[in-house]
Amino acid sequence: MAIREILQIGDPLLASRASEVDVNSISEKEVQAWIKDMIDTMRHANGAGISANQIGVPHRMFVMEITDNPRYPYKPKMPLTVVINPEITYLSDKKFTSNEGCLSVPNMRANVERHLEISVSYYDEKGNHQTQEVNGYSACTWQHEYDHLDGILFPHRVTDSQSFCSWDSFKRYQEVDYAKHVEELVSIWGS
Ligand code: ZN
Repeated sequence: MAIREILQIGDPLLASRASEVDVNSISEKEVQAWIKDMIDTMRHANGAGISANQIGVPHRMFVMEITDNPRYPYKPKMPLTVVINPEITYLSDKKFTSNEGCLSVPNMRANVERHLEISVSYYDEKGNHQTQEVNGYSACTWQHEYDHLDGILFPHRVTDSQSFCSWDSFKRYQEVDYAKHVEELVSIWGS
């Protein structure tokens, strides 16, 4: 188990486009160790996802997992998903105002517009190519993690700068209402 340091906003690696993983090398020790480190670091930090460049590995990979997460109690569950060289296609213009935080942006949250219907394709940790449709709140999580690979952090996507707030303020003033919005979303989309 290796819990790595999580790079913070301002680190050049977080602002750069990550490079593709050689698909033939996915089964090799080095890539498997990166995957393990992402999972360990994400779980240790109670994150819903983490990208490779957040732990200092400049390649196009991320992991996501949402169980009973104290950081995001309202989020619908998502099984552990390992994503390598992903592509995202927007399937519609339907959007949701997603209130987001990030392990690389300490104690800050804000609203970001995310697409609700996307198609994703990627390689999994075994090197198998996967294609699926992702809808609802889970689509927001996908887009947040994907953005990391292009050097984009959620503050760069914020259009309503009044929505910036600390985690404590979010919990105190917004979480109850926001959890209801997410519940509505999950009841419509199932995810
Ligand atoms: Zn993030």
